[in-house]
Amino acid sequence: MTTAHEEPLVDTPFFLAWIEEMATAVQVERDRLTELDAAIGDADHGANVDRGFTAVRQALADGPPETPRAVLVLAGSTLIRKVGGASGPLYGTAFRQMGRTLRDAPEVTLAELAVAFDAALAGVQKLGGAAEGDKTMVDALAPAVRALARAVQDGSKPEDAMAAAAEAAAEGARATVPLQARKGRASYLGPRSIGHEDPGAASTALIFAALRKAAG
Ligand code: ADP
Ligand code: MG
Repeated sequence: MTTAHEEPLVDTPFFLAWIEEMATAVQVERDRLTELDAAIGDADHGANVDRGFTAVRQALADGPPETPRAVLVLAGSTLIRKVGGASGPLYGTAFRQMGRTLRDAPEVTLAELAVAFDAALAGVQKLGGAAEGDKTMVDALAPAVRALARAVQDGSKPEDAMAAAAEAAAEGARATVPLQARKGRASYLGPRSIGHEDPGAASTALIFAALRKAAG
Protein backbone atom coordinates (compact mmCIF):
# COMPACT_ATOMS: atom_id res chain seq x y z
CA MET A 1 0.00 0.00 0.00
CA THR A 2 1.27 3.47 -0.84
CA THR A 3 0.13 6.92 0.12
CA ALA A 4 0.13 9.57 -2.60
CA HIS A 5 0.15 13.32 -2.02
CA GLU A 6 -3.59 13.60 -1.68
CA GLU A 7 -5.41 10.33 -1.96
CA PRO A 8 -4.39 7.09 -0.27
CA LEU A 9 -3.86 4.36 -2.85
CA VAL A 10 -4.25 0.62 -2.52
CA ASP A 11 -2.09 -1.45 -4.86
CA THR A 12 -2.11 -4.98 -6.29
CA PRO A 13 0.35 -6.40 -3.71
CA PHE A 14 -2.02 -5.21 -0.99
CA PHE A 15 -4.90 -7.20 -2.50
CA LEU A 16 -2.69 -10.26 -2.87
CA ALA A 17 -1.61 -9.90 0.77
CA TRP A 18 -5.25 -9.55 1.84
CA ILE A 19 -6.22 -12.77 0.09
CA GLU A 20 -3.20 -14.55 1.54
CA GLU A 21 -4.23 -13.40 5.04
CA MET A 22 -7.83 -14.52 4.56
CA ALA A 23 -6.80 -17.92 3.21
CA THR A 24 -4.61 -18.40 6.28
CA ALA A 25 -7.34 -17.18 8.64
CA VAL A 26 -10.06 -19.49 7.32
CA GLN A 27 -7.62 -22.40 7.42
CA VAL A 28 -6.72 -21.67 11.05
CA GLU A 29 -10.40 -21.14 11.98
CA ARG A 30 -11.76 -23.94 9.83
CA ASP A 31 -12.86 -26.12 12.75
CA ARG A 32 -14.53 -23.25 14.62
CA LEU A 33 -16.49 -22.30 11.48
CA THR A 34 -17.54 -25.90 11.03
CA GLU A 35 -18.66 -26.13 14.66
CA LEU A 36 -20.78 -23.01 14.23
CA ASP A 37 -22.34 -24.57 11.13
CA ALA A 38 -22.84 -27.87 13.00
CA ALA A 39 -25.03 -26.00 15.50
CA ILE A 40 -27.38 -24.34 12.98
CA GLY A 41 -26.53 -25.82 9.57
CA ASP A 42 -24.86 -28.86 8.07
CA ALA A 43 -21.32 -28.62 9.47
CA ASP A 44 -19.56 -27.80 6.21
CA HIS A 45 -18.88 -24.05 6.34
CA GLY A 46 -15.27 -24.36 7.53
CA ALA A 47 -14.53 -26.95 4.85
CA ASN A 48 -16.32 -24.87 2.20
CA VAL A 49 -14.45 -21.62 2.78
CA ASP A 50 -11.13 -23.37 3.39
CA ARG A 51 -11.43 -25.28 0.11
CA GLY A 52 -12.50 -22.11 -1.66
CA PHE A 53 -9.74 -19.83 -0.43
CA THR A 54 -7.10 -22.52 -0.85
CA ALA A 55 -8.18 -22.74 -4.49
CA VAL A 56 -8.05 -18.94 -4.78
CA ARG A 57 -4.53 -18.91 -3.35
CA GLN A 58 -3.51 -21.53 -5.92
CA ALA A 59 -5.15 -19.68 -8.83
CA LEU A 60 -3.35 -16.48 -7.86
CA ALA A 61 -0.03 -18.31 -7.55
CA ASP A 62 -0.52 -19.93 -10.97
CA GLY A 63 -0.91 -16.61 -12.74
CA PRO A 64 -0.55 -13.56 -10.53
CA PRO A 65 -2.95 -10.88 -11.85
CA GLU A 66 -1.55 -7.40 -12.30
CA THR A 67 -4.42 -5.26 -11.08
CA PRO A 68 -6.69 -5.26 -8.04
CA ARG A 69 -9.62 -5.70 -10.41
CA ALA A 70 -8.11 -8.86 -11.90
CA VAL A 71 -7.18 -10.24 -8.46
CA LEU A 72 -10.73 -9.85 -7.19
CA VAL A 73 -12.46 -11.14 -10.32
CA LEU A 74 -10.23 -14.23 -10.36
CA ALA A 75 -10.87 -14.80 -6.64
CA GLY A 76 -14.62 -14.50 -7.16
CA SER A 77 -14.76 -16.79 -10.17
CA THR A 78 -12.66 -19.39 -8.37
CA LEU A 79 -14.94 -19.35 -5.32
CA ILE A 80 -18.03 -19.78 -7.49
CA ARG A 81 -16.40 -22.71 -9.27
CA LYS A 82 -14.96 -24.47 -6.22
CA VAL A 83 -17.48 -24.04 -3.42
CA GLY A 84 -20.77 -25.87 -3.57
CA GLY A 85 -22.50 -24.47 -0.47
CA ALA A 86 -24.52 -21.28 -0.32
CA SER A 87 -21.42 -19.38 0.76
CA GLY A 88 -19.48 -20.13 -2.46
CA PRO A 89 -21.72 -18.28 -4.90
CA LEU A 90 -22.33 -15.54 -2.33
CA TYR A 91 -18.67 -14.87 -1.59
CA GLY A 92 -17.81 -15.44 -5.23
CA THR A 93 -20.32 -12.82 -6.29
CA ALA A 94 -19.04 -10.44 -3.62
CA PHE A 95 -15.46 -10.59 -4.88
CA ARG A 96 -16.43 -10.54 -8.52
CA GLN A 97 -18.72 -7.54 -8.14
CA MET A 98 -16.08 -5.80 -6.09
CA GLY A 99 -13.52 -6.32 -8.84
CA ARG A 100 -15.84 -5.28 -11.63
CA THR A 101 -16.42 -1.95 -9.96
CA LEU A 102 -12.72 -1.07 -10.10
CA ARG A 103 -10.76 0.46 -12.96
CA ASP A 104 -8.24 -1.97 -14.42
CA ALA A 105 -5.29 -0.03 -12.97
CA PRO A 106 -2.46 -1.27 -10.74
CA GLU A 107 -3.62 0.98 -7.90
CA VAL A 108 -7.02 2.17 -6.77
CA THR A 109 -7.94 4.91 -4.33
CA LEU A 110 -9.32 4.17 -0.91
CA ALA A 111 -12.54 5.87 -1.98
CA GLU A 112 -12.80 3.51 -4.97
CA LEU A 113 -12.22 0.58 -2.63
CA ALA A 114 -15.11 1.75 -0.46
CA VAL A 115 -17.37 1.91 -3.53
CA ALA A 116 -16.22 -1.58 -4.53
CA PHE A 117 -17.12 -2.95 -1.10
CA ASP A 118 -20.54 -1.42 -1.50
CA ALA A 119 -20.92 -3.33 -4.76
CA ALA A 120 -19.90 -6.54 -2.97
CA LEU A 121 -22.67 -6.04 -0.44
CA ALA A 122 -25.19 -5.22 -3.17
CA GLY A 123 -24.18 -8.39 -5.04
CA VAL A 124 -24.64 -10.58 -1.98
CA GLN A 125 -28.02 -9.05 -1.21
CA LYS A 126 -29.23 -9.32 -4.79
CA LEU A 127 -28.25 -12.98 -5.00
CA GLY A 128 -29.27 -14.09 -1.51
CA GLY A 129 -32.11 -11.71 -0.72
CA ALA A 130 -31.00 -11.30 2.90
CA ALA A 131 -31.43 -8.07 4.84
CA GLU A 132 -29.56 -7.10 7.98
CA GLY A 133 -31.00 -8.96 10.94
CA ASP A 134 -31.70 -12.16 8.96
CA LYS A 135 -28.68 -13.80 10.65
CA THR A 136 -26.41 -14.19 7.64
CA MET A 137 -23.05 -12.92 6.41
CA VAL A 138 -24.87 -9.67 5.58
CA ASP A 139 -24.97 -8.91 9.31
CA ALA A 140 -21.16 -8.65 9.34
CA LEU A 141 -20.68 -7.36 5.79
CA ALA A 142 -23.12 -4.44 5.86
CA PRO A 143 -21.77 -2.73 9.01
CA ALA A 144 -18.18 -3.30 7.83
CA VAL A 145 -18.89 -1.69 4.46
CA ARG A 146 -20.58 1.24 6.21
CA ALA A 147 -17.72 1.69 8.68
CA LEU A 148 -15.18 1.69 5.86
CA ALA A 149 -17.15 4.25 3.85
CA ARG A 150 -17.56 6.48 6.89
CA ALA A 151 -13.85 6.32 7.73
CA VAL A 152 -12.90 7.11 4.14
CA GLN A 153 -15.29 10.06 4.11
CA ASP A 154 -13.70 11.33 7.32
CA GLY A 155 -10.28 11.21 5.65
CA SER A 156 -8.91 8.33 7.74
CA LYS A 157 -5.67 6.62 6.82
CA PRO A 158 -6.15 3.26 5.05
CA GLU A 159 -5.04 1.24 8.08
CA ASP A 160 -7.50 3.11 10.32
CA ALA A 161 -10.36 2.72 7.85
CA MET A 162 -9.69 -1.01 7.54
CA ALA A 163 -9.41 -1.41 11.31
CA ALA A 164 -12.80 0.29 11.68
CA ALA A 165 -14.27 -2.10 9.11
CA ALA A 166 -12.77 -5.11 10.90
CA GLU A 167 -14.21 -4.02 14.24
CA ALA A 168 -17.64 -3.44 12.72
CA ALA A 169 -17.61 -6.88 11.06
CA ALA A 170 -16.60 -8.61 14.30
CA GLU A 171 -19.30 -6.77 16.21
CA GLY A 172 -21.85 -7.61 13.51
CA ALA A 173 -20.94 -11.30 13.69
CA ARG A 174 -21.24 -11.34 17.50
CA ALA A 175 -24.61 -9.63 17.22
CA THR A 176 -26.01 -12.56 15.20
CA VAL A 177 -26.03 -14.79 18.31
CA PRO A 178 -29.45 -13.74 19.67
CA LEU A 179 -31.07 -13.53 16.23
CA GLN A 180 -33.38 -16.06 14.61
CA ALA A 181 -32.26 -17.03 11.11
CA ARG A 182 -34.58 -15.95 8.30
CA LYS A 183 -32.39 -16.97 5.33
CA GLY A 184 -30.31 -19.98 4.39
CA ARG A 185 -30.21 -23.42 5.92
CA ALA A 186 -30.29 -22.14 9.52
CA SER A 187 -33.77 -20.67 8.90
CA TYR A 188 -35.15 -24.24 8.76
CA LEU A 189 -34.47 -24.41 12.52
CA GLY A 190 -36.76 -21.48 13.29
CA PRO A 191 -36.36 -20.36 16.92
CA ARG A 192 -33.77 -23.10 17.52
CA SER A 193 -31.30 -21.05 15.49
CA ILE A 194 -31.26 -18.50 18.35
CA GLY A 195 -28.21 -18.56 20.61
CA HIS A 196 -25.54 -19.41 18.01
CA GLU A 197 -23.26 -17.19 15.96
CA ASP A 198 -23.92 -17.36 12.23
CA PRO A 199 -21.02 -19.17 10.52
CA GLY A 200 -21.07 -16.97 7.42
CA ALA A 201 -21.02 -13.82 9.55
CA ALA A 202 -18.08 -15.32 11.45
CA SER A 203 -16.13 -16.00 8.23
CA THR A 204 -16.93 -12.50 6.96
CA ALA A 205 -15.44 -11.12 10.18
CA LEU A 206 -12.28 -13.15 9.40
CA ILE A 207 -12.14 -11.64 5.91
CA PHE A 208 -12.20 -8.13 7.38
CA ALA A 209 -9.69 -9.06 10.10
CA ALA A 210 -7.45 -10.17 7.22
CA LEU A 211 -7.99 -6.79 5.56
CA ARG A 212 -6.79 -5.06 8.71
CA LYS A 213 -3.77 -7.37 8.92
CA ALA A 214 -2.85 -6.74 5.29
CA ALA A 215 -3.02 -3.00 5.98
CA GLY A 216 -1.00 -3.11 9.17
P1 ADP B 1 -24.68 -24.14 3.12
O1 ADP B 1 -25.64 -23.35 3.95
O2 ADP B 1 -25.16 -24.38 1.73
O3 ADP B 1 -24.22 -25.37 3.82
P2 ADP B 1 -22.29 -22.79 3.99
O4 ADP B 1 -22.41 -23.62 5.22
O5 ADP B 1 -20.96 -22.75 3.36
O6 ADP B 1 -23.39 -23.19 2.93
O7 ADP B 1 -22.64 -21.28 4.34
C1 ADP B 1 -23.65 -20.95 5.27
C2 ADP B 1 -23.65 -19.45 5.45
O8 ADP B 1 -24.05 -18.82 4.24
C3 ADP B 1 -24.64 -18.98 6.49
O9 ADP B 1 -24.07 -19.01 7.78
C4 ADP B 1 -24.98 -17.57 6.04
O10 ADP B 1 -24.09 -16.61 6.60
C5 ADP B 1 -24.72 -17.63 4.55
N1 ADP B 1 -25.98 -17.59 3.82
C6 ADP B 1 -26.82 -18.62 3.55
N2 ADP B 1 -27.88 -18.20 2.84
C7 ADP B 1 -27.69 -16.85 2.66
C8 ADP B 1 -28.42 -15.81 2.00
N3 ADP B 1 -29.58 -16.07 1.35
N4 ADP B 1 -27.92 -14.55 2.02
C9 ADP B 1 -26.76 -14.28 2.64
N5 ADP B 1 -26.03 -15.22 3.28
C10 ADP B 1 -26.49 -16.47 3.30
MG1 MG C 1 -23.27 -25.40 5.64
